[in-house]
Amino acid sequence: MSRASSLLTIEALVKTYSRSSGLFGKTDPVRALDGVDMSINRGEALGLVGESGSGKTTLARCVIRLVKATSGRVIFDGVDVLKADSLTLRTLRQRMQIVFQDPFGSLNPRMTVGAAVREPIEAHKIAEKQEARDRVESLFEEVGLDPTYTSSYPHQLSGGQRQRIGIARALSVEPEFVVLDEPVSALDVSVQAQVLNLLSDLRANRGLTYLFIAHDLAVVRHIADRVAVMYSGRLMEVAFVTDTYDEPLHPYTTSLLSAVPVPDPRVRRERIILTGDASARRPTSGCVFEPRCPHPKKNELCRMEIPPLREIRTARLVACHHAE
Ligand code: ADP
Ligand code: MG
Repeated sequence: MSRASSLLTIEALVKTYSRSSGLFGKTDPVRALDGVDMSINRGEALGLVGESGSGKTTLARCVIRLVKATSGRVIFDGVDVLKADSLTLRTLRQRMQIVFQDPFGSLNPRMTVGAAVREPIEAHKIAEKQEARDRVESLFEEVGLDPTYTSSYPHQLSGGQRQRIGIARALSVEPEFVVLDEPVSALDVSVQAQVLNLLSDLRANRGLTYLFIAHDLAVVRHIADRVAVMYSGRLMEVAFVTDTYDEPLHPYTTSLLSAVPVPDPRVRRERIILTGDASARRPTSGCVFEPRCPHPKKNELCRMEIPPLREIRTARLVACHHAE
């Protein structure tokens, strides 16, 4: 993995939200992202997993500048995203797209789904009139929907069909990079597999680069090349997906993985139940995972010093003092 092939690079990204603590009207900042570094190669699918509240959506939104990061850098194909002027941003908005978890929430209930897919094509002046309509029809076919659905309204479609519309809308402007923020989490299990297959095919056919977000490791297994595990705004582990599955090195990854069913009945994983949750009060020093960490070697060092994300083996990054 050479630096040259990186399409997206994130450096020391921080996002804090102010939250009212209710005490004398004081605000108590939430560090939703606490210094995230990662890079995604061209054509790669990077899975980003972590419990609800770990900062995944915040990362996705900061990267495409839907929300303003507090500090840090995001470089997309050599362009500084966080400093881009409005003209550059317009181009970036076409090159980088997002698919949301709930397509219902992002679709206008009074607009046909055909018009919803056509809208960005016209807004970005990619095509107009009949040519735009033809593009919409071929996009429908590409995402596995009969073109007769173009005149349907969102409420007339199933959850899986609506998510296909969300995907068609994102692809309509011919992006290179797509953020998928829990695109199958709201769907039935049988439909999840179909949409995951579609996303894999689209990536292969279009040569897309994905940041694929999920809250569990089972979903990213078949779609991601590498997986980044996030906890409380920090990356705990980054590795190739097979390495993560075969030998997780961070105790948080181990506990997430223990919840994933093993297909081979001869293999048993001990289920690790973590107490508390990711949005619980974070420690003011040391490792953010320390209060919930089940590692037998957990010690004073974990409470005092933040473990940096370090490469302990080739292409294996881990933020744990006791990873060896
Ligand atoms: P995830 O997508 O992993 O579930 P989020 O990025 O949505 O996590 O949230 C990370 C943290 O930031 C949570 O503690 C959440 O409560 C907080 N947060 C997210 N959005 C806002 C906001 N607009 N205002 C205040 N806090 C927020
Ligand atoms: Mg989220």
